[in-house]
Amino acid sequence: MSYTYLFKYIIIGDASVGKSCLMQSFLSQSIRTKHEPTVGVEFGAKILEVNKERVKFQIWDTAGSEQYRSITRSYYRAAAAAILVYDTTRRSTFDHLAEWLDEARINGNPNITVIVVGNKIDLHTQREISIEEGKKWAADNGLLFIETSAKNNQGVNEAFLFSCQDVLERI
Ligand code: GDP
Repeated sequence: MSYTYLFKYIIIGDASVGKSCLMQSFLSQSIRTKHEPTVGVEFGAKILEVNKERVKFQIWDTAGSEQYRSITRSYYRAAAAAILVYDTTRRSTFDHLAEWLDEARINGNPNITVIVVGNKIDLHTQREISIEEGKKWAADNGLLFIETSAKNNQGVNEAFLFSCQDVLERI
């Protein structure tokens, strides 16, 4: 299938915040996905129309390597956008966002589009980070922001589309 743009997306954040689930949720109506477990990174691809352009999203998942801090430079290289995820029910994952942001900027494109994603909002009784706090941190760092539930497919497509519009505007 033809497309005008190919954008590499990386999904970063602490272990168990829901990165793989977000990828799977986004790809659930996917044309096809591909697995390359040998390199410790999982890829998925999907073509969507954004602002009347056909865009291929090539998504890289850490496949668990973030637990060992063994994410390599090649993971970040040439990424157009990063989905920077925290778990709205675990403050420690929110506190680590700045470190992940630094890593992405140091190892990848310093002007990478970043969207901060507060995931697991379906677990509202366990919430530790309010939407206002999440929004403020993103705004203070000049980043996009959205809340999601990968479990309920809530906000997930929007996270990818919203960030893609920003990438297209910067071309
Ligand atoms: P990763 O390590 O960041 O890739 O996290 P996973 O995608 O493997 O998810 C970690 C755990 O959180 C799994 O048990 C998921 O089922 C769960 N999870 C992920 N997203 C959500 C969500 O939006 N809501 C709820 N309730 N659980 C989620």
